[in-house]
Parts: sequence; structure tokens; C-alpha cells
Amino acid sequence: MGDDDWTPQTQAAQALGWTDAETGAVVKPLHPSTTYLRDADNLYRRGRQYARADNPGFDQPQALLAALEQGAEALIFSSGMAAATSCFLALRPGDHVVIPEVMYWSLRAWLKSYAQEWGLVVDSVDMSNLDAVRAILQPGRTKLVWIETPSNPLWHITDIAAVAELAHGAGARVAVDSTCATPVLTRPLILGADIVMHSATKYLNGHSDVIAGALVVRESDDYWQRICSLRVRLGSVLGPFEAYLLTRGMRTLFVRVQVACANAMKIALAMQENPHVAEVLYPGLAHRPDHELAARQMQGGFGGMLSIRIKGGERAAIRAAAAVKLWKRATSLGGVESLIEHRGSVEGAESPCPMDLLRLSVGIEAAEDLIADLEQALKGG
Ligand code: PLP
Repeated sequence: MGDDDWTPQTQAAQALGWTDAETGAVVKPLHPSTTYLRDADNLYRRGRQYARADNPGFDQPQALLAALEQGAEALIFSSGMAAATSCFLALRPGDHVVIPEVMYWSLRAWLKSYAQEWGLVVDSVDMSNLDAVRAILQPGRTKLVWIETPSNPLWHITDIAAVAELAHGAGARVAVDSTCATPVLTRPLILGADIVMHSATKYLNGHSDVIAGALVVRESDDYWQRICSLRVRLGSVLGPFEAYLLTRGMRTLFVRVQVACANAMKIALAMQENPHVAEVLYPGLAHRPDHELAARQMQGGFGGMLSIRIKGGERAAIRAAAAVKLWKRATSLGGVESLIEHRGSVEGAESPCPMDLLRLSVGIEAAEDLIADLEQALKGG
């Protein structure tokens, strides 16, 4: 099947080179069946019983993702939230978890409500302040430290290796939401993390037409087995067609991410010069506080996500978003088309997101078209 000597870009382009042995098709077939034949002697020798547990269409994207992240095993889920919440649901009531102050807002909201009500003890911390991380860890009681890097929507970078060392010293695992970095730019497991999470809805699929999630583990252990079992018990599985689309999307991951990164850098530089922009939040800019760490931890680019803060505050920001013609005014990120969003309207009062902020998910269009559209919108349309 896949060749371990291939570079990650080649592994992705060929989805590990898998073909269909029966027909010779270079694309694996879809399996819509929800159930599988039992052998006459009552065993399931072919290994599959029921599609809430598994589908043959999961094998290729899971193997590819495990290869790209250099993990032992991967699992795909029905959404990024299903993947992320499984990491917490596999813990036990009374366990302590540490999360970042800046992170995907919907996961934070779930952790601060349902997860706490269910018995997890949840503390947030500034993940860039290692002394604060050290101080908040409770050796023996802290079971999971959650990192998101670059983090939504301010694009702070967390030092994965440094946080992993602290967390492991306290007996905790480290999980990284690497949705915005993608395995093209960062491989958290090599840096010491235990689990990587992706909203595969974003860059992995890349075409804004699938909701999916994924986890990759460095080493399969009891905790991972609990996560695997949760997927079956909760039924948070992807449909076969979505798994097929995800596999297809991942084949172009590298070229899409490379173009998005190059575009984002050009846009960040242009926005820095724009008289209507107060601040550009992008770790690729040399003067940003996270730049040095980002340059060390991210290879080949700084991601396709950036935010701009608009002079004139919330109303001016919403007005500028209303005036774009090429950018699509929509939530989400990581697709081939560029999206713009007044993020404060989404995240609400608990969020650290300033109300003058527009979040930009940069796609693969020509950078000059994207810049020209932003410039005319910022000028007043
Ligand atoms: N993590 C990040 C960084 C996200 O941006 C999102 C979705 O926007 C999620 C997790 C949740 O993923 P999903 O929408 O696939 O459930």
C-alpha cells in the first residue's frame, strides 16, 4: 500500500497510493451498506459488523491522516466538535483539564457548560505564559491540557514542545487542535503532543462541503481505546459519502495550503499599509510577538487565517464586511473560497475577540483580486 519513503505531499496526493484490488479502479469505491454478513459459523471473520462502528471508507482517510501526522492511529468523526468532545468525554468526573483563553469558541462554551456540569474541572490559562501554565497544573489530577495553535480568532501561537514538557511532568496528556496549522505546517505529535485534533470540515476537506472531524494519537493506549469505544457508543461516525469526499479533499491539501499561506502573507502585508486598518493579526508578520515561535514551529508558511482590526470600531468593521464583492460573508474557514466574518457577532460576550475584528479565511484565488476587493470595501464600497 503506502510507501513510508514518500514525502507527505506525495502520500497526500496519492492518498497513500491505494487502489481497488477487485476492479483495478484508482479510486476506492464507496460502501453505503449499514450492516455486514455474519459467517455461517456465527463469526465475523471479515472484521466488520455494523456501520455505526466502522465503514471500509474510513480506512484510507484514517491511514493517510495517521501517516501525515506521524501517529499510530487515526479516527474520523461526524464533526470537529464530535472529535474534540470525545477527548474530554473519555476522561472521568473530577478530572482537571486546562484549556487556552483563546480557542474555538463553541468548544470553550461546551467545556464551560456541559462538561463542567458533567463533572470535569475546567481551568483556562494564557498558553503563551509558561509560568502560568506551570502554576495551573495540578500534578496527578490534571489529565488533559488542550492547545489550539494558531488559535482562533487572534492567531496566537502556543509552544507545543514546552507545554507538553510541563504537562507530562504533571502526569497530563496534551491534545492539540491543529485545524488551522494542518499537518502541512505543524506536526504536533513529533513535538511531544499525545493527540492531534482536526476539524476536517476546514483545510483537510477544503471545499466547504463536508462536516467532519479527526483525531490522531501518538500511541494507542487505554485512553485512546475509550475514545474509540465512545465513537461507536455515541454514534459520532461520518457517512460513507462524506468520508469519500474527505479523502478526495485531502489529496490536494498541500497545494491548497501552500497557496492559502502565500496569499495570506500578501494580504497581511497589504492590510498593514491600509489606512483603515488599526492592526493585522498574523503570526507571519515579523513584528508580531509570536513570529519567532511561529517560524520555529511552523514549516513552510504561517497559515491561511488572519484577522484585521478596523479603525472606527464595530460599526466600521461590519460596514466593511458588508461591502465586499469577491470575499464571501460567511463563517467557517479552510475552503478554497475566501471568507470574511465579523467574528464578535458570532462569539458573544465571553469571548476575548474585540468587536472591531474581521476574521479572514484566505482561499486560493489570486491574491491581487482579494486585496483589491478588501481595499474597496475598507474605503466604503
Ligand atoms: N476547531 C476549530 C479551530 C474550528 O474552527 C472549528 C469549527 O469552526 C472546530 C474546531 C469545530 O469543528 P466542526 O465545525 O467541524 O465541528
